[in-house]
Amino acid sequence: MSENAGNSATKYVYDFTEGNKDLKDLLGGKGANLAEMTNLGLPVPPGFTITTEACRVYLESGEVPEALNDEVSAHLAALEQTMGKKLGEPSDPLLVSVRSGAKFSMPGMMDTVLNIGLSDASVEGLAAQAGDDRFAWDSYRRLIQMFGRTVLGIEGAQFERALEEITGPGASPGATSDADLSAADLKKLVKRFKKIVKNEAGRDFPQDPREQMDLAVKAVFTSWNGERARLYRRQERIPHDLGTAVSVVSMVFGNLGADSGTGVAFTRDPASGQQGVYGDYLQNAQGEDVVAGIRNTVPLAELEALDEKSYTELLRIMETLENHYKDLCDIEFTIERGKLWMLQTRVGKRTAGAAFRIAVQLVDQGLITEAEALRRVTGGQLAQLMFPRFDEKAADGAAAEHGVQKIAHGIAASPGAASGKAVFDSYTAIKWSRSGEKVILIRRETNPDDLDGMIAAEGILTSRGGKTSHAAVVARGMGKTCVCGAEELEVDTKRRCMTARGIDSSTGRGTVVVEEGDTVSIDGSTGKVYVGEVPVVPSPVVEYFEGRMHAGADDADELVVAVHRIMAYADRVRRLRVRANADSAEDALRARRFGAQGIGLCRTEHMFLGERREYVERLILADTDGEREDALKALLPMQKQDFVELLEAMDGLPVTVRLLDPPLHEFLPDITELSVRVALAESRKDANENDLRLLQAVHRLHEQNPMLGLRGVRLGLAIPGLFAMQVRAIAEAAAERCAAKGDPRAEIMIPLVGTVQELELVRDEATQVIADVEEATGTTLGLALGTMIELPRAALTAGEIAEAAEFFSFGTNDLTQTVWGFSRDDVEASFFTAYLEKGIFGVSPFETIDRDGVGRLVEDAVRAGRATRPDLKLGICGEHGGDPESVHFFHEVGLDYVSCSPFRIPVARLEAARACAAPHSSDSR
Ligand code: ADP
Ligand code: MG
Ligand code: MG
Repeated sequence: MSENAGNSATKYVYDFTEGNKDLKDLLGGKGANLAEMTNLGLPVPPGFTITTEACRVYLESGEVPEALNDEVSAHLAALEQTMGKKLGEPSDPLLVSVRSGAKFSMPGMMDTVLNIGLSDASVEGLAAQAGDDRFAWDSYRRLIQMFGRTVLGIEGAQFERALEEITGPGASPGATSDADLSAADLKKLVKRFKKIVKNEAGRDFPQDPREQMDLAVKAVFTSWNGERARLYRRQERIPHDLGTAVSVVSMVFGNLGADSGTGVAFTRDPASGQQGVYGDYLQNAQGEDVVAGIRNTVPLAELEALDEKSYTELLRIMETLENHYKDLCDIEFTIERGKLWMLQTRVGKRTAGAAFRIAVQLVDQGLITEAEALRRVTGGQLAQLMFPRFDEKAADGAAAEHGVQKIAHGIAASPGAASGKAVFDSYTAIKWSRSGEKVILIRRETNPDDLDGMIAAEGILTSRGGKTSHAAVVARGMGKTCVCGAEELEVDTKRRCMTARGIDSSTGRGTVVVEEGDTVSIDGSTGKVYVGEVPVVPSPVVEYFEGRMHAGADDADELVVAVHRIMAYADRVRRLRVRANADSAEDALRARRFGAQGIGLCRTEHMFLGERREYVERLILADTDGEREDALKALLPMQKQDFVELLEAMDGLPVTVRLLDPPLHEFLPDITELSVRVALAESRKDANENDLRLLQAVHRLHEQNPMLGLRGVRLGLAIPGLFAMQVRAIAEAAAERCAAKGDPRAEIMIPLVGTVQELELVRDEATQVIADVEEATGTTLGLALGTMIELPRAALTAGEIAEAAEFFSFGTNDLTQTVWGFSRDDVEASFFTAYLEKGIFGVSPFETIDRDGVGRLVEDAVRAGRATRPDLKLGICGEHGGDPESVHFFHEVGLDYVSCSPFRIPVARLEAARACAAPHSSDSR
C-alpha cells in the first residue's frame, strides 16, 4: 500500500457524481451509496469522498498523502461553486459534515463531525441567512461539542455536564431539553464550550474553516483504529487493514424549526421482513439526535400528518431504492423547511428470520434469482434460527408455576430467547460473564462504549430507543437477542436496579424491582421481558427439520416455508455431499432427517465404555494370548450389534466406521483415585489383586502427551486382534443386514496413519478377516477400506498412502493440532484469547480451517491422492465440516463430502450450495 504514497496518478477524492455503489472498497459503503443515490437523481446534498486508500497512507505514515490537499481544495472549490457559498464565509457560510464510512458498515463505531465551517464570525452570517438566531447558535454549540470530543479528544461528559447545567433543574425556566434552549442560552453555552476546549485541549477552538475540515478528516481516519472500532471488527471478522473513507457533505438542517426534522427508515421490517413503513422521526433535530435517543422520536408513519409532501416523496424514494438495490435498504434523511434530503442508504442489516423471508419474497417479486437468494442468507443465520425459544405457554400462562412474571413488553429488536442475571453496566457484564455467568445487559440506552459489555451478554434490554437505536442495530448485527424501548421499565444504573410499574394487571401485582443479579428473561422475537427463567422449546425450524412440522401445511409458519424453499434451492445446486458424525442409531436417524447423506465418522470408542469397560480392562490386563482373545471374543457380539443398528438406520447410505482411536488409559480408572484405593486397601492389609494389576497397567500406559502417544493405528498394531475384532464385527453386521435384505454400505477407516506401511499391515489383516466372513456367510460385502489424513506426514505422503486406501477422510481437528503443534484442550484456555486480541488469528483455527497452513496440506494431499488413485473418495470429518467458511474451502479444493454433527447438517447443506452460488460472498455483513 505504501508504494502508492508518492504515486501522483492515484486519485484520492471522488465527487458524488463520479462514484457508484460498487466502489465500496475505495469509497466505503456510505460514500459509494451517496454517489449511487446522486446518480439515481435522488435529492442528496452535494459532496465528495476521500478514499480509504488515503486513510491507509495516513495510518501507515502519519501524514496525509501529498496530493490529497490539492485534490480536496479542487473538489471543495467545485462544491462551493455548486452551492454558491464558500466554506465558513462569514456572511453566508457553506457548512459541511465530515463523515466516516468503511467498506463494511460499523454503526456508530467511528466518528462524524457536523456543521464544519461555523466560527465566531460565520455563526452570525448563518443566523442572518436563516433568520433564526437560535438555530445558528445551536449548530455552533453542536460543532464545538462534536469537534471537541472527536477531533480534540475531550471527554464528552464535560460538554454534557455544561449542557445539563443549563437544561437541568434550576436552569433557565422551562428548559428541560436542548430543544427548549433560547438563543441567549446557546450563546452562553458556546462560551462555556469554548472554555472547555481551551482548558482541556490547551488550544482555542479553530476559527479557520479549512483547518477545521482538515483536522476532522484526520480524526475520522484515526477513528478507524479507535478501541471500539477494533473490537467491533474483531467481533464481525472485518479485516483491520481496510481503512475508512471520509465523505464531506454539504449540510442540510433538520433543526430549523417545526417544519424541519431528521429520521431513519427501513424499506421493510428488519425483524420480520414484512413490507411497510418502519422508522423513527424527530422534529426540529439534527443528525445523531434520532439514534442517540436524546428526545423521544415518533413513528415514521406520523410524518404523514406533519409533512405530507415530504412523506410521500420519502415513500417513493424508498420504493426506488428497494427496486434498485433489490434488497431491504435502510436510510437516513433530513427535512429542511419542508424539503427532503437523503443522507445515507445501505443494504440494511436484518435478523436471521427476516433474511430468509426477504430472500424468498424477492424471488417471488421477480427481483432476484434463486441463486441470488442463496447469497442473501448464511449458514450462520440458519444456525441462529435453530436455537431454542421460550415456551410461550410456560411464559404467559402457567407463569406462576415457574416463578416467572412478565414485567414489560418492549420492541422486538433482535430475536432469540435469553435468560441471565441482570447487570446494569458493561464492566459487570464482562466480569460476570468471564466467571461463567450468563448475564443480560440492561441499560436505558446503549452507546458505542457498551460494545464489549454487549458482546459479553446473552442479551440486551433497554428502556428507551426504537428499532433503529444503537442497541437494536448492533445486537442485530451480532445476532444477539435484544429487546429495546421497554418503556414500562425505569432503569437506574447508579443504584443498579430497574423498576417495572403496574404491568401485571391480571394478578394485580404492582411494582416489581429487579436488582443486579436477579434472573431475567428477554424474548427478542416478541419483545416480552420477564423476571425469572422462562423454559425453552425447540424452534419451529428444528421442528421442521425433524419432520414434525410441514412446510406444505395450510397454516405453515412463514419462516418454515422460507427455510424450506431456500434449502430446496440449496440441495439442487450444491456439489458437496453432507454426511454426519454420528455413532448411535438414534443420532443417525436424526441426521438423516436433517438431510445427512451418510455417516462420515462413526467413532467406536463409546462402544468400549459403560458396562463394557470391564472387558476392555481385561483386554488391557491380559497376560496371555488366551486371556486377550477371551476378552476380545466377549466384545465382538456387542460391537456387532452396534453396527447392525447403525447400518439399519443408515440403510442405503455410506457409513464410515473409524477403528479405535483414543489412548487406552481413557478406558482405565483415574490414576489418583486408583492409587488411593490401592493404598487404603494395603493399609488395611486387604490388597485386591485386580486393583494392583490395574494400577500397574495405568502406570505403564500413563503418557506425558497422550495425544501423541499410543493411539489410532498404533493401538491396532500394538494390541494383536483388536482391529481384527472390530473389522469382524463390521463385516458380520454387514452380512446380517444383507441377509435381512438391507443395503449396508460400511466403510472401514483407520485413524492416525503416518505412513503407508502402517496402513498396509492393517489392511492386509482386515482383508483376510473380511474374506473369512464373506466365505462363512456366502455374501459379497464390498467393504471399502480407507484412512484418515490427520498427521502432517500422512498429508505429505498422501500419494503413497492412496495406494493402500480407497478413501481419505481429513481429520482436521488433529491435523490442526499437529500442524500448529498445540493441543486444543490446553491452548484454548491459555493463550488463545491473547492471540485473537493481538490479531495473530482472526478466528480460532479450530473453528475455521487455517487455509494457509492446514488448508494447504489438505489441498496438496487431495492432489497427490487423486494422482495415485483417480477415483479416491475424499471427505472431511473434523468439526470444520459444519463451519461455513471452511465448507467453502472444502468445496474449492474438490472434496466429495463434508461430515459434521447432526445439528450442523442444514448449515453445511446451505453453505455447500452458497459455495457454488457465489465466489465466497462476504458482502452480506
Ligand atoms: P454514522 O455512520 O454514525 O451514522 P453519519 O456520518 O451517518 O454517522 O452521521 C451522523 C448523523 O449526522 C446521521 O444522522 C446523519 O444523517 C447526520 N448527517 C451527516 N451528514 C449530514 C449533513 N451533511 N447534513 C445533515 N445531517 C447530516
Ligand atoms: Mg449514518
Ligand atoms: Mg483424530
